[in-house]
Amino acid sequence: TSFGFKEVKEEEKAQMVGNVFTNVATTYDLMNDLMSAGLHRLWKDRLVSKLNPFPGMNHLDVAGGTGQLPSQSIFYYVSDGDVAFRILENINRVRQRGLPNVFEDSLKAETQIYVCDINPKMLNVGKQRALEKGFGEDGSLIWVEGNAESLSFQNDSMDGYTIAFGIRNVTHIEKVLSEAHRVLKRGGRFLCLELSHVDIPVFKDLYDYYSFSVIPSIGELVAGDRESYQYLVESIRRFPSQEKFASMISDAGFQKVEYENLVGGVVAIHSGLKI
Ligand code: SAM
Repeated sequence: TSFGFKEVKEEEKAQMVGNVFTNVATTYDLMNDLMSAGLHRLWKDRLVSKLNPFPGMNHLDVAGGTGQLPSQSIFYYVSDGDVAFRILENINRVRQRGLPNVFEDSLKAETQIYVCDINPKMLNVGKQRALEKGFGEDGSLIWVEGNAESLSFQNDSMDGYTIAFGIRNVTHIEKVLSEAHRVLKRGGRFLCLELSHVDIPVFKDLYDYYSFSVIPSIGELVAGDRESYQYLVESIRRFPSQEKFASMISDAGFQKVEYENLVGGVVAIHSGLKI
């Protein structure tokens, strides 16, 4: 295969986190799909457009396993998830448009998009789908098993870092943010897409009703599991507010921290620069 699959040694603790996530993954993924009704495709497009990918870049997409095991999600076919594929598509478009001569060197430089996930099953599904779709045949996609809280990458090695629907499930958000800051080069951008908080009158009430009544009922009907769905809704509520999360990103050392709410805050894209 043309894909380099780097085995990264995991600590026992990391394995535990992985196992726990495997157990609840079905619900999380299904939930993301149900809640977004397919909109997550547009949200991921938005995330990647904020990144401004360029040929020759080194990029790290964390929690980037496909997040979908085919047998586990009835929405598998509408959820063609991956941020990494979108980045490569974007770069290929830039290439097709043709670049001025000054960029010739960077064109020659190899684009490397690392996809890191704690769960090897999620990585394998992503790898399989990359093969099917013909992404990364030139070796530009590299699959790495690892924990967002303790990355195996060198300091100052990445031009960009993305994490989509991944940070809510980690044990220590602060560790993830400081690792993101460590591996980014100066000028590198951190981008995070996550389910967030709605604060618009009336819409907030509707969203609360949807979250606390409709979602658990769907959970009961579809999966026969009301509690997991309730837990999921609560995990979204427990995640820090947009402002609080922005200040955590600043505390990790990032500059020019900002966020954009999509669908009134159902999801938010946070960004920061390492300067
Ligand atoms: N980014 C993909 C997307 O947007 O479709 C997948 C999101 S999925 C809901 C969350 C992913 O985070 C899972 O694949 C899970 O294995 C991974 N994950 C959970 N904890 C992690 C950690 N500490 N480090 C790296 N990945 C983690």
